Amino acid sequence: MPERRRSKLVVLANRLPVHRAGDGEWHTSPGGLVRAVLPIMKARTGAWVGWPGSSSRTPRLWTHEGVRLWPVAVPEREMDEYYGGMSNRTLWPLFHDAIRAPEFEPKWWEAYESANQRFVARALRAAGRRAQWWVHDYHLMLAPRLLRSARPAARVGFFLHIPFPPEELFAWLPWRRQLLDGLLGADVVGFQTHAAARNFSRAARRWTRAEGTDHELHIDGRKVSVDAFPISIDIDEFESLARDPSVIARSQQIRRRVGARRRIILAVDRIDYTKGIELRLEAFEAALTRGDITADRCVLIQIAVPSREATPEYMETRDRVERLVGRINGQFSTPGRVAVHYFRRQLAGDELVSYYLAADVMLVTPLRDGMNLVAKEFIACRLDNSGVLVLSEFAGAAEQFRRALLVNPRDFAAMGATLNRAMSLPRREAIMRMAIMRMLLRRHDVHEWADTFLRALERA
Ligand code: UDP
Repeated sequence: MPERRRSKLVVLANRLPVHRAGDGEWHTSPGGLVRAVLPIMKARTGAWVGWPGSSSRTPRLWTHEGVRLWPVAVPEREMDEYYGGMSNRTLWPLFHDAIRAPEFEPKWWEAYESANQRFVARALRAAGRRAQWWVHDYHLMLAPRLLRSARPAARVGFFLHIPFPPEELFAWLPWRRQLLDGLLGADVVGFQTHAAARNFSRAARRWTRAEGTDHELHIDGRKVSVDAFPISIDIDEFESLARDPSVIARSQQIRRRVGARRRIILAVDRIDYTKGIELRLEAFEAALTRGDITADRCVLIQIAVPSREATPEYMETRDRVERLVGRINGQFSTPGRVAVHYFRRQLAGDELVSYYLAADVMLVTPLRDGMNLVAKEFIACRLDNSGVLVLSEFAGAAEQFRRALLVNPRDFAAMGATLNRAMSLPRREAIMRMAIMRMLLRRHDVHEWADTFLRALERA
């Protein structure tokens, strides 16, 4: 391909920013990351390299919303081992505090190496001579080093969307040095939180030749900047949905249907063992048992999005959650007064916003979470500064939102006390807390996030 048609900024991510819908057409995938990054890519003649979502009937290369898309073909078996195995059964649990035991399988590692090479081979074809690369997430941690080896003078950024574990946990990984070396191929390595950035720098100093501080490492005569870039949401998009008359009407309808005078407690998660859904349901059950709350006066709405259902741990989590919901409703519901409304499905953005508007209290209590966008979306939608956010100390968002009611989700007594506090928080205090959080969110939306990262990369 002639140089002028090659791209100046190339994103590498496990998935392309599009999916093929029932009509056979390619549509932009939902999510703030895609919406924030696509316009930047368009302005910079960008390209996006990623897996198209299936191995069948994919064009070799095409342009979508002004961005060149380069699908990576990964053989099915390699995909199972690189994505289903190494990414989701080794790195995901290990990087989330080993909430479930990570599995260490050498053939998954080989597939991970091979898949990373495939993505990089495609990325090298997509990029012009002076291109910058922006690599995303735990699926592609070897890519920065591979890019660096091929183009020593290139500018490479990496952003990790999930947590980076403390040194003692990271040490479990049989391939820890290779993974760190992979990341150290970048000029800028970005994390969701300062804690994650610090964990990475310490691990790098311990197991590689890198030297330096928590924010600046030196290796092989090169500098690697390490920092926190907390990802965010498109606040304007959520505010405009929250103002939409049909969304408001639906939120009022939700309130009427569950009982106009009942308080609504809302939780929204993928069904994932990191999200702490079971502990949250147990805390709600205990509050009902103690009589702190009654199903007559309040209701928990749990939206649960199916996820990674091919992995046994995810099906087990789903089964446990559904048994718990049955147990709570069996004991506490009465006709017309269901204690827990449980919806196992993915809602479209506007419907989700109706729930954010209808809720009095939002419970975001993961055991560990890179950031948690649901918390930010709830804040964005509360235009009148009403509503109370209960937030786990173990969500990345807690580093920013100190004005939420912070809680340790494993502390059963604290969960109960915080739920009570949320339900009875004086209105003035609730408004003051929400107003401060909204101000913070407005200053740090997803556009600011992308700009800040790319500016750091340009300075590198
Ligand atoms: N979400 C959605 N429909 C739903 C539930 C969630 O579109 O029914 C979206 C939600 O708007 C958010 C994302 O899924 O942007 C979840 O992101 P988060 O960071 O909270 O958790 P993750 O699933 O990435 O671990």
